[in-house]
Amino acid sequence: MSALTLKEQYYIQTYGCQMNVSDTEVIEAVLDQMNFAKAPTIEEASLILFNTCCVRENADLKVYGKLGELKEKKRKNRDLILGVVGCLSQKDGKKFLERFPYVDLVLGTYKQGRLPYLIQEIRSGKGPILELSNRKDREEEGLPVKRRSEIFTFVPISYGCDQFCTFCIVPFVRGKQRSRHPKSLMREIQNLAEDGFKEITLLGQNVNTYGFDLGPEYSFSELLALINSLDKIDRIRFITSHPKYFSLELVEKIASLDKVCEHFHLPLQSGDDEILKKMRRGYTYEDYKKLVCKIRTLIPSASITTDLIVGFPGETEEQFQKTLTAYREIQFDQAFMFAYSPREGTKAAKFEDQVPESVKKERLQLLIELSNQMVEKKNKEYVGSIQEVLVEGPSKKNINRLTGRTRTNRISVFDGNPKIIGTLQKVHIKNGYSWGLEGNVISSSIP
Ligand code: SF4
Repeated sequence: MSALTLKEQYYIQTYGCQMNVSDTEVIEAVLDQMNFAKAPTIEEASLILFNTCCVRENADLKVYGKLGELKEKKRKNRDLILGVVGCLSQKDGKKFLERFPYVDLVLGTYKQGRLPYLIQEIRSGKGPILELSNRKDREEEGLPVKRRSEIFTFVPISYGCDQFCTFCIVPFVRGKQRSRHPKSLMREIQNLAEDGFKEITLLGQNVNTYGFDLGPEYSFSELLALINSLDKIDRIRFITSHPKYFSLELVEKIASLDKVCEHFHLPLQSGDDEILKKMRRGYTYEDYKKLVCKIRTLIPSASITTDLIVGFPGETEEQFQKTLTAYREIQFDQAFMFAYSPREGTKAAKFEDQVPESVKKERLQLLIELSNQMVEKKNKEYVGSIQEVLVEGPSKKNINRLTGRTRTNRISVFDGNPKIIGTLQKVHIKNGYSWGLEGNVISSSIP
């Protein structure tokens, strides 16, 4: 056994959104500091963690299934530490340990910094441990981060959410919105710029409500302007935005900031006003269309992506058809589509007019078919154009080619010298597919 393999190894499976991916980057850094190494496969790990999501029942079931599969492995190897962290742990808490008594650790949200202590406690025989977060003891800032790229990275700007959409569990497991102070944010982003990062994606459940909880002098548009002024950062992205709070002034501001990429992820959720009201989204389809119109007028190349839910309680066939119509009218560049999944504790889970699973499934299928056609059509519209691409590295499917994303967040694959990784290049787009774009680099300025 080489010296390298003497280190204990961890394996983390991450479910859910970008916020969870960002949390996993923190967990990995914390474990690295404990002298753990990342295991190439789950079989080799002596610490297995599931960073969980609870937004849909499907995500819960995946974790339950994985834990079931690991029961035998745990029985054979008592030294193996098995843990669940994040949103589902926060939601299910004790229920987890009742259902899976062989799990060593159930850790809630914003508790990653406790891992060194808790792992030691488990090693000394004090498991299983259940530790959930509450308003007072969340640890959100100041933890190390193991970034998965040296070129682009996430930076959370706020945590939690105040909106309480009737279908959503997030405010219950991540708490109300807490915006990071711009001083600490700018320090982090400045350091990233010094370390050579070119693209920053600002993360939050609702990035455009950033600062609402800090005071009237703080706003998302001011934050964007501050970051835009940093010399070494080439690109700024942000996800997710709430249509209700996306003011026309914010669109104007974004249009004036050269580093802010032309990609807007604006969850519409439904094309029907009555359903939007029942979801407690705070806008009508007409409001949403006006916003998209303003964006496309000021930023004609903007790509608009969305989230859509079908089969929300009470959704009639006619209301579902309005979602299809909205898709065609708005001409979304891409959509994340889901069948409504009741989440215990949310308002909509108690609505009596739940839609049968078979109907939800059928509607989802129809929506996915429409979306697939639209994505390919939209990507084909890029053929012949020249796009600025930040070169991220070798393509996963063909390591002899390079890959990167356009400002509108399209994956692009092209031939090129690996020396251009980490630089902005002009790519002539030759083909558009459902997965993205293919082209040639036309101005390969090799550093
Ligand atoms: S805005 Fe609504 S859907 Fe988004 S995280 Fe908050 S409650 Fe959930």
